[in-house]
Amino acid sequence: MAESPFMDQSNCFNCHFPAHFCSVLQSGRCINLMAFFLYISHKMWQEMAKYGRKLVEHGLVESNFGNISVRAGDKMLITRSGTALDEITGDNVVEVEIQDTSSLDIIASSETVVHREIYRQTSALAIIHSHCPYAVVESLLAGAGEVIVPVDSEGQYFLGNIPVVGGGIGSLELAENLADALSKHKGAVVYSHGTFAPGRTLGEAYIVTTQLEHSCRVKYLYELAAVKK
Ligand SMILES: [Zn+2]
Repeated sequence: MAESPFMDQSNCFNCHFPAHFCSVLQSGRCINLMAFFLYISHKMWQEMAKYGRKLVEHGLVESNFGNISVRAGDKMLITRSGTALDEITGDNVVEVEIQDTSSLDIIASSETVVHREIYRQTSALAIIHSHCPYAVVESLLAGAGEVIVPVDSEGQYFLGNIPVVGGGIGSLELAENLADALSKHKGAVVYSHGTFAPGRTLGEAYIVTTQLEHSCRVKYLYELAAVKK
């Protein structure tokens, strides 16, 4: 009997695609290239568009900030530079290499180098970068290289201490700092900038994003109330 190409219920271990994108290959191992064509044919950008809209609708980012990517084997799809996250279409996502730089890097998000390093150093299959306002405020209060300590029980349980990472936008320093932080934590906040949340799916990355912002919001309001007491 042919070996199943699926490492679990959701992802093929060869190409990292969600199983339902590889269903025609269930009788044997997939081939990255075939899986990639299936990936494109099923318009994965629609999933990116769905979470881009949710981020904006829920106030987790202003429309023209932030970026989203998904891993597809040795490549990733990432939003183009300047893409409004609530207006993502197939025309404003680009495919670039993970191990090497790509000629399309020039039109991809300015944070492509950061997404690339996270995929290289962690098991992430999807990444959401958002400019969540309370997370940015708490990063300013904590300082780069420090941690944000959640005061809500859910944040303490699911996130633990949230690392605040330093480094310029789109810099190699930031990429290395974030990849290191996300190999040990579920999510991180870039100092004075915003959140980075990885996941096996965009849905998971979205949930981590909301958890980061929720915990930072509760912490800010709690400490504000405590001062007024
Ligand atoms: Zn940003």
